[in-house]
Amino acid sequence: MNSLSRIDGVLHIEQVALPEIARTFGTPCYVYSRATLTAALQAYKEALANNNALVCYAVKANSNLAILSLFSRLGAGFDIVSRGELARVLAAGGDPGKVVFSGVGKSAAELREALSLGILCFNVESEAELDRLEQIAGGRRKPAPIALRVNPDVDPRTHPYISTGLRSNKFGIPIDRARAIYRRAAASPQLAVRGIACHIGSQLLDPEPAAEAAAKVLALVDELASDGIELSHIDLGGGMGIRYLDEQAPSASAYLAPLLAAMAGRRERLLLEPGRSLVGNAGLLLTRVEYLKPGVEKNFAIVDAAMNDLMRPALYDAYHDILPVEAAAHAALPYEIVGPVCESGDFLGHARTLAIAGGDLLAILSAGAYGMTMSSNYNSRPRAAEVLVDGTAMHLVRRRESIADLYAAESSVP
Ligand SMILES: *Cc1c(COP(=O)(O)O)cnc(C)c1O
Repeated sequence: MNSLSRIDGVLHIEQVALPEIARTFGTPCYVYSRATLTAALQAYKEALANNNALVCYAVKANSNLAILSLFSRLGAGFDIVSRGELARVLAAGGDPGKVVFSGVGKSAAELREALSLGILCFNVESEAELDRLEQIAGGRRKPAPIALRVNPDVDPRTHPYISTGLRSNKFGIPIDRARAIYRRAAASPQLAVRGIACHIGSQLLDPEPAAEAAAKVLALVDELASDGIELSHIDLGGGMGIRYLDEQAPSASAYLAPLLAAMAGRRERLLLEPGRSLVGNAGLLLTRVEYLKPGVEKNFAIVDAAMNDLMRPALYDAYHDILPVEAAAHAALPYEIVGPVCESGDFLGHARTLAIAGGDLLAILSAGAYGMTMSSNYNSRPRAAEVLVDGTAMHLVRRRESIADLYAAESSVP
């Protein structure tokens, strides 16, 4: 995370000391750097500068309105997967004309609403969804803009839970069946065929699988052209990986180079749907050590953040770097970093050698993507606050949930 530095031994994000954030807003607390968010989007924009392209940020990675409004003002579009995400984009001032709608299970209400708002494109994931959308668009003045999300059957060589482009996954339409479905869509007055979409998985460190998928997609686009079906855009999805530990994560320009080479000389607009790579290393989770609990086999550091705040370690066995916020003279020992939740899977890090004491602050790094958005109230724990740092300023962009919030929507038996 390049907005982090140590000044006199104290960890800062941009110009703000993390203990200051903990004092002001409490812990656990997500902290984001505006400069890093901006730089991540600019890196895409610079890599795409000479191309007809639109970056549609994948909202599910981090859907805080502050992040959406920042990206919107920087010109981004959005990739959404629900009505809730669409509402967030609009609330943040985003342009529905730059929204693509992904997801395998769009409800009729979701299709209706997105159609009324005039989104850029529906990334349709099955024939049944195409039928439903066609029916909903019937009787309206404008046809529904569609792309088929094709499944190119490419192994992204990432964690199985985050691979989406294999034949065995639930996502997309098998690429060898897409041509026939395009013909049927093109013949429908209720549907306007606009593009094609694919997204093969997440945390990809090597552009090779994405380039392989792109080649398959472009071959199909050319077949479609020979059928008289001309597409306006080609959406190659998201998936670019980031550095959590020692991964050699590519720069946006290195990752996009083979995709841009494949697109060279083509007339279609390129769409991309990055999520993690725009926000992952712009955020950290700030937490405080409640107790140290020395053990026979393992030492535990019990912190006030838990799997309900950051689920990735429990869900994917994901690694997040964990740093003490202030350097201290304690003995360095290996600790299991665990939360208060009543699950053995409630861990944030294994065997981390740290010099810490009860009451110390820890920063769990690279938590900007799939952190807050995957959080829950499990164990009736209020969700964390979120703070956006901008130079020397800190802005509370989501208040900590209160205890009353936990059951505000519930009622006792009548
Ligand atoms: C999750 C998702 C993305 C974003 O993936 P990242 O790995 O976060 O870049 C993009 N497109 C679709 C369809 C997705 O499901």
